Amino acid sequence: MAIDREKYREIIAQLGESVQLVAVSKTKPVEDIRALYEEGQRDFGENYVQELVDKQPQLPSDIRWHFIGHLQSNKVKYIMPWVHLIHGVDSLSLLKEINKQAAKGNRIAEVLLQVHIAREETKFGLSPDELAEVMRRIGAHPTAWQNVSVRGLMGMASNAEDTEVVGQEFTALKSLFDTFFPDGRGILSMGMSGDYELAIRKGSNMVRIGSLLFGKRG
Ligand SMILES: *Cc1c(COP(=O)(O)O)cnc(C)c1O
Repeated sequence: MAIDREKYREIIAQLGESVQLVAVSKTKPVEDIRALYEEGQRDFGENYVQELVDKQPQLPSDIRWHFIGHLQSNKVKYIMPWVHLIHGVDSLSLLKEINKQAAKGNRIAEVLLQVHIAREETKFGLSPDELAEVMRRIGAHPTAWQNVSVRGLMGMASNAEDTEVVGQEFTALKSLFDTFFPDGRGILSMGMSGDYELAIRKGSNMVRIGSLLFGKRG
Protein backbone atom coordinates (compact mmCIF):
# COMPACT_ATOMS: atom_id res chain seq x y z
CA MET A 1 0.00 0.00 0.00
CA ALA A 2 1.60 3.26 -1.12
CA ILE A 3 1.24 6.48 0.77
CA ASP A 4 -0.64 9.36 -0.77
CA ARG A 5 2.06 12.00 -1.23
CA GLU A 6 -0.22 14.42 -3.00
CA LYS A 7 -2.76 14.29 -0.19
CA TYR A 8 0.03 14.76 2.34
CA ARG A 9 1.22 17.96 0.65
CA GLU A 10 -2.32 19.21 0.35
CA ILE A 11 -3.00 18.63 4.06
CA ILE A 12 0.28 20.24 5.12
CA ALA A 13 -0.55 23.34 3.07
CA GLN A 14 -4.07 23.40 4.50
CA LEU A 15 -2.92 23.14 8.13
CA GLY A 16 -0.35 25.90 7.87
CA GLU A 17 1.69 26.94 10.89
CA SER A 18 -1.01 26.82 13.52
CA VAL A 19 -2.17 23.19 13.31
CA GLN A 20 0.18 20.24 13.83
CA LEU A 21 -0.22 17.00 11.94
CA VAL A 22 0.22 13.64 13.65
CA ALA A 23 0.37 10.97 10.94
CA VAL A 24 -1.37 7.91 12.34
CA SER A 25 0.57 4.87 11.17
CA LYS A 26 -1.00 2.06 13.19
CA THR A 27 -1.04 -1.29 11.35
CA LYS A 28 1.06 0.23 8.53
CA PRO A 29 4.53 -1.07 7.66
CA VAL A 30 7.73 0.80 8.50
CA GLU A 31 8.37 1.34 4.75
CA ASP A 32 5.28 3.54 4.57
CA ILE A 33 6.35 5.50 7.62
CA ARG A 34 9.80 5.99 6.13
CA ALA A 35 8.27 7.20 2.88
CA LEU A 36 6.27 9.87 4.70
CA TYR A 37 9.33 10.73 6.80
CA GLU A 38 11.17 11.40 3.56
CA GLU A 39 8.41 13.84 2.61
CA GLY A 40 9.33 15.72 5.79
CA GLN A 41 6.85 14.34 8.32
CA ARG A 42 8.27 13.88 11.82
CA ASP A 43 5.25 13.36 14.09
CA PHE A 44 3.72 9.88 13.95
CA GLY A 45 0.96 8.35 16.05
CA GLU A 46 0.52 4.73 17.10
CA ASN A 47 -2.17 2.96 19.14
CA TYR A 48 -0.60 -0.27 20.29
CA VAL A 49 2.40 -0.53 22.60
CA GLN A 50 3.80 -3.74 21.14
CA GLU A 51 3.56 -2.45 17.59
CA LEU A 52 5.20 0.83 18.51
CA VAL A 53 7.99 -0.90 20.43
CA ASP A 54 8.66 -3.06 17.35
CA LYS A 55 8.70 -0.15 14.89
CA GLN A 56 10.54 2.51 16.87
CA PRO A 57 14.07 1.02 16.65
CA GLN A 58 13.68 0.44 12.90
CA LEU A 59 13.04 4.09 12.14
CA PRO A 60 14.96 7.39 12.41
CA SER A 61 15.53 8.54 15.97
CA ASP A 62 14.27 12.07 15.32
CA ILE A 63 10.72 10.86 14.79
CA ARG A 64 8.41 12.24 17.48
CA TRP A 65 6.23 9.31 18.54
CA HIS A 66 2.73 10.09 19.79
CA PHE A 67 0.90 7.41 21.69
CA ILE A 68 -2.75 7.91 20.79
CA GLY A 69 -4.33 4.63 21.90
CA HIS A 70 -5.65 3.38 25.19
CA LEU A 71 -2.58 2.94 27.36
CA GLN A 72 -2.49 0.32 30.09
CA SER A 73 -0.54 1.28 33.19
CA ASN A 74 1.64 -1.82 33.12
CA LYS A 75 2.89 -0.90 29.62
CA VAL A 76 3.91 2.69 30.27
CA LYS A 77 7.48 1.68 31.02
CA TYR A 78 8.06 0.23 27.53
CA ILE A 79 7.50 3.53 25.71
CA MET A 80 8.66 5.98 28.36
CA PRO A 81 12.31 6.27 27.22
CA TRP A 82 11.40 7.94 23.94
CA VAL A 83 7.68 8.69 23.64
CA HIS A 84 7.05 12.34 22.72
CA LEU A 85 3.42 12.89 23.72
CA ILE A 86 0.82 10.55 25.28
CA HIS A 87 -2.62 11.64 24.09
CA GLY A 88 -5.02 9.27 25.79
CA VAL A 89 -4.60 9.75 29.53
CA ASP A 90 -8.01 9.01 31.00
CA SER A 91 -7.44 8.24 34.68
CA LEU A 92 -5.51 9.53 37.63
CA SER A 93 -3.98 6.10 38.20
CA LEU A 94 -2.54 6.07 34.66
CA LEU A 95 -1.20 9.58 35.16
CA LYS A 96 0.40 8.41 38.41
CA GLU A 97 2.16 5.55 36.66
CA ILE A 98 3.39 7.88 33.90
CA ASN A 99 4.72 10.26 36.54
CA LYS A 100 6.47 7.38 38.30
CA GLN A 101 8.06 5.93 35.17
CA ALA A 102 9.11 9.39 33.96
CA ALA A 103 10.77 10.03 37.32
CA LYS A 104 12.67 6.75 36.99
CA GLY A 105 13.88 7.83 33.58
CA ASN A 106 14.71 11.28 34.89
CA ARG A 107 12.42 13.02 32.41
CA ILE A 108 9.23 15.01 32.24
CA ALA A 109 6.55 13.19 30.25
CA GLU A 110 4.21 15.34 28.19
CA VAL A 111 0.60 14.17 28.16
CA LEU A 112 -2.89 15.13 27.06
CA LEU A 113 -5.98 14.23 29.05
CA GLN A 114 -8.60 12.45 27.00
CA VAL A 115 -12.14 13.70 27.36
CA HIS A 116 -15.16 11.62 26.41
CA ILE A 117 -17.14 13.77 23.99
CA ALA A 118 -18.76 11.19 21.68
CA ARG A 119 -22.20 9.68 22.04
CA GLU A 120 -20.78 6.17 21.69
CA GLU A 121 -20.29 4.44 25.01
CA THR A 122 -17.23 2.62 23.78
CA LYS A 123 -14.91 5.57 23.44
CA PHE A 124 -12.56 6.19 26.32
CA GLY A 125 -12.12 9.39 28.21
CA LEU A 126 -12.84 11.48 31.28
CA SER A 127 -16.18 13.16 31.79
CA PRO A 128 -15.99 16.94 32.22
CA ASP A 129 -16.40 16.47 35.99
CA GLU A 130 -13.62 13.90 36.13
CA LEU A 131 -11.41 16.22 34.10
CA ALA A 132 -12.03 19.01 36.59
CA GLU A 133 -11.17 16.64 39.44
CA VAL A 134 -7.90 15.51 37.84
CA MET A 135 -6.88 19.12 37.17
CA ARG A 136 -7.78 20.06 40.73
CA ARG A 137 -5.72 17.21 42.19
CA ILE A 138 -2.67 18.14 40.14
CA GLY A 139 -3.04 21.80 41.00
CA ALA A 140 -3.39 21.01 44.69
CA HIS A 141 -0.11 19.05 44.88
CA PRO A 142 2.15 20.22 42.08
CA THR A 143 5.25 18.81 43.74
CA ALA A 144 3.75 15.32 43.60
CA TRP A 145 3.44 15.61 39.81
CA GLN A 146 6.84 16.98 38.87
CA ASN A 147 7.52 14.41 36.16
CA VAL A 148 4.40 14.95 34.10
CA SER A 149 3.42 17.99 32.12
CA VAL A 150 -0.25 18.08 31.17
CA ARG A 151 -0.11 20.00 27.90
CA GLY A 152 -3.77 19.92 26.89
CA LEU A 153 -6.73 17.80 25.87
CA MET A 154 -7.60 15.12 23.34
CA GLY A 155 -10.98 13.88 22.19
CA MET A 156 -12.69 11.75 19.58
CA ALA A 157 -16.05 12.75 18.18
CA SER A 158 -18.88 10.38 17.29
CA ASN A 159 -18.59 8.47 14.01
CA ALA A 160 -21.51 10.48 12.78
CA GLU A 161 -22.45 11.63 9.32
CA ASP A 162 -24.28 14.36 11.14
CA THR A 163 -21.79 17.24 11.18
CA GLU A 164 -24.11 19.13 13.51
CA VAL A 165 -23.52 16.52 16.23
CA VAL A 166 -19.78 16.23 15.59
CA GLY A 167 -19.46 20.02 15.56
CA GLN A 168 -21.21 20.28 18.93
CA GLU A 169 -18.87 17.68 20.41
CA PHE A 170 -15.81 19.58 19.18
CA THR A 171 -17.22 22.84 20.49
CA ALA A 172 -17.74 21.26 23.91
CA LEU A 173 -14.14 20.05 24.00
CA LYS A 174 -12.82 23.45 22.88
CA SER A 175 -14.73 25.11 25.66
CA LEU A 176 -13.18 22.78 28.28
CA PHE A 177 -9.81 23.42 26.71
CA ASP A 178 -10.24 27.19 27.01
CA THR A 179 -11.29 26.78 30.63
CA PHE A 180 -8.36 24.64 31.73
CA PHE A 181 -5.65 25.83 29.34
CA PRO A 182 -6.33 29.54 28.99
CA ASP A 183 -2.78 30.69 28.25
CA GLY A 184 -2.97 29.98 24.52
CA ARG A 185 -0.04 27.55 24.63
CA GLY A 186 -1.95 24.33 25.21
CA ILE A 187 -2.47 21.48 22.78
CA LEU A 188 -5.96 20.56 21.61
CA SER A 189 -5.77 17.22 19.78
CA MET A 190 -9.00 16.71 17.87
CA GLY A 191 -9.84 15.70 14.33
CA MET A 192 -9.16 12.60 12.20
CA SER A 193 -9.40 11.78 8.49
CA GLY A 194 -13.17 12.14 8.39
CA ASP A 195 -13.61 15.26 10.48
CA TYR A 196 -10.34 17.18 10.70
CA GLU A 197 -11.53 20.20 8.71
CA LEU A 198 -14.49 20.64 11.01
CA ALA A 199 -12.22 20.11 14.04
CA ILE A 200 -9.92 22.91 12.87
CA ARG A 201 -12.85 25.26 12.39
CA LYS A 202 -13.82 24.44 15.96
CA GLY A 203 -10.37 25.31 17.31
CA SER A 204 -8.18 22.21 17.06
CA ASN A 205 -4.44 22.79 16.87
CA MET A 206 -3.39 19.14 16.43
CA VAL A 207 -5.02 16.63 14.10
CA ARG A 208 -4.44 12.88 13.96
CA ILE A 209 -4.78 11.63 10.40
CA GLY A 210 -4.28 8.04 9.28
CA SER A 211 -6.28 6.65 6.38
CA LEU A 212 -6.10 9.77 4.19
CA LEU A 213 -2.31 9.45 4.17
CA PHE A 214 -1.69 5.71 4.42
CA GLY A 215 -4.85 4.31 2.89
CA LYS A 216 -7.60 2.37 4.57
CA ARG A 217 -6.68 -0.12 7.27
CA GLY A 218 -7.54 -3.76 6.68
C1 LIG B 1 -6.86 5.44 14.25
C2 LIG B 1 -6.95 6.72 14.96
C3 LIG B 1 -6.87 7.94 14.27
C4 LIG B 1 -6.76 8.06 12.78
O1 LIG B 1 -7.93 7.67 12.17
P1 LIG B 1 -8.19 7.91 10.59
O2 LIG B 1 -9.66 7.90 10.49
O3 LIG B 1 -7.53 6.78 9.88
O4 LIG B 1 -7.60 9.23 10.24
C5 LIG B 1 -6.89 9.10 15.03
N1 LIG B 1 -7.01 9.08 16.37
C6 LIG B 1 -7.10 7.93 17.05
C7 LIG B 1 -7.22 7.98 18.54
C8 LIG B 1 -7.10 6.72 16.38
O5 LIG B 1 -7.22 5.59 17.07
